[in-house]
Amino acid sequence: MKRTIAILGGGAAGMMAAVAAAEEGAKSRSAEEENGTDVLLFEKNTYLGAKVLISGGGRCNVTTGIFDVRKLLENYPRGAKFLMSAMFRFPPEKVKEWFESHGVPLKIEEDLRIFPVSNNGKDVVGALENELRRLGVQIFTNANVIELVSMKGDSAGGEQAASAQKFLLKLKDERTFETDAVIITTGGNAYRHTGSTGDGYAFAKYFGHTVTPLSPSLNSFVVSDQWIKSLAGVSFEKTELRLKSFDGEREYKRTGPGVFTHHGVSGPAVFAMSAAASFETYDRNKPMELSVNFFPDENAETLKKRFMDMADKNGKKFLVNFLDMFLPKSLCGVFVEILKADSELSVGKMDREIREKILDLMQNFKLSVVGRGAGDEFVTAGGVLLDEVNTNTMESKICPGLYFAGEILDIDGFTGGFNLQASWATGRLAGENAAKQMNE
Ligand SMILES: Cc1cc2nc3c(=O)[nH]c(=O)nc-3n(C[C@H](O)[C@H](O)[C@H](O)COP(=O)(O)OP(=O)(O)OC[C@H]3O[C@@H](n4cnc5c(N)ncnc54)[C@H](O)[C@@H]3O)c2cc1C
Repeated sequence: MKRTIAILGGGAAGMMAAVAAAEEGAKSRSAEEENGTDVLLFEKNTYLGAKVLISGGGRCNVTTGIFDVRKLLENYPRGAKFLMSAMFRFPPEKVKEWFESHGVPLKIEEDLRIFPVSNNGKDVVGALENELRRLGVQIFTNANVIELVSMKGDSAGGEQAASAQKFLLKLKDERTFETDAVIITTGGNAYRHTGSTGDGYAFAKYFGHTVTPLSPSLNSFVVSDQWIKSLAGVSFEKTELRLKSFDGEREYKRTGPGVFTHHGVSGPAVFAMSAAASFETYDRNKPMELSVNFFPDENAETLKKRFMDMADKNGKKFLVNFLDMFLPKSLCGVFVEILKADSELSVGKMDREIREKILDLMQNFKLSVVGRGAGDEFVTAGGVLLDEVNTNTMESKICPGLYFAGEILDIDGFTGGFNLQASWATGRLAGENAAKQMNE
């Protein structure tokens, strides 16, 4: 008897799930084609992998060079434990091998991010598309799934859906498909114009699944400090950031590169911070305090000594020009503004109070975080509750034959290839297991 697996969403997880399902299905396909498994991939866009194509600024940070799985898992603020099984089966090293053996040479950059040598995400999607076609996956683009129901029971979900083995899905253009297994890979709801509009959450709920609260992650921060515009573009290779929740009850600390923007702060350390604090609420009335240490590798004592030594040698310099020896010029201007110091004050005339204030600004520069950079979050934190999904197979514990993979799950990682890695790994596991189930 012919069996059918439907995969909802042709993003990273969906494409990899379809490849894995078709490979697994092909392994045990009998001589009679009627006994095989058909793999159907539905994508609402007119092309596959919209988000993969724009990821990493178009270069596609496919995965990470952190090959030790336990170290790798430290990069997931949510879902690390759940990911263990999927990551051991399809770790970054194997992801790398997979793409390279499918015609996409990859390179590991200094910060351990892995990109195509071509710096072109199109190659990543192209390799998956070629493989999908070679394996005979039926690709439906322009195919917006608007309804997914259990064939047992009509629309109530919960208990009725619990015994479901067949599914009916309906497209916006009214076409319907009956399938034996479904893998939901519709993604989160960040960058909605790429097609990821959170549709899968409603499907999951229909089958009795819990969707945890959702929140943007990997975003920049908007700050309310007036002088921020004058710092746009100033960047640091290493800063130490501390963020206090509005009520002061929680504090987050991250170290790494950072950059000032026209409206606030961005860069890897800020993204990591935003992931840690993604469920904090804050706005202009409830700002969070962000403090920046521009000299994270020096303690207060050594910085002070260096500062004093330099001050002794440069007594005649104007303060702003002296600070320039430590920090970018535009930041020195902001320091002088904050200190309300005379711009023509010479270093030799700097009193103790000003000196202490400058040293404090150097390692404890405070900003008021009042919002997230509009629409620039990269992933959605929260999703399908992991307790309700089998970590070894990605199958729903509530509804047999239903699988989840990718960002729709309550999993998110930091920047650095971790989110795509989670999508490849969970997608592969879901595809393999759905196909195995069809063969049983
Ligand atoms: C700008 C940007 C840059 C990023 N850069 C990186 C990076 O370099 N490295 C990294 O690891 N991560 C990166 N990420 C995150 C990463 O791209 C995602 O976490 C990952 O693509 C999620 O994969 P997914 O398959 O779960 O979901 P998605 O890639 O979002 O795919 C879901 C697909 O489902 C389709 N879909 C949704 N609903 C329906 C429906 N009802 N019917 C049919 N189809 C539907 C959507 O159109 C979409 O194509 C980036 C994200 C963004 C926004």
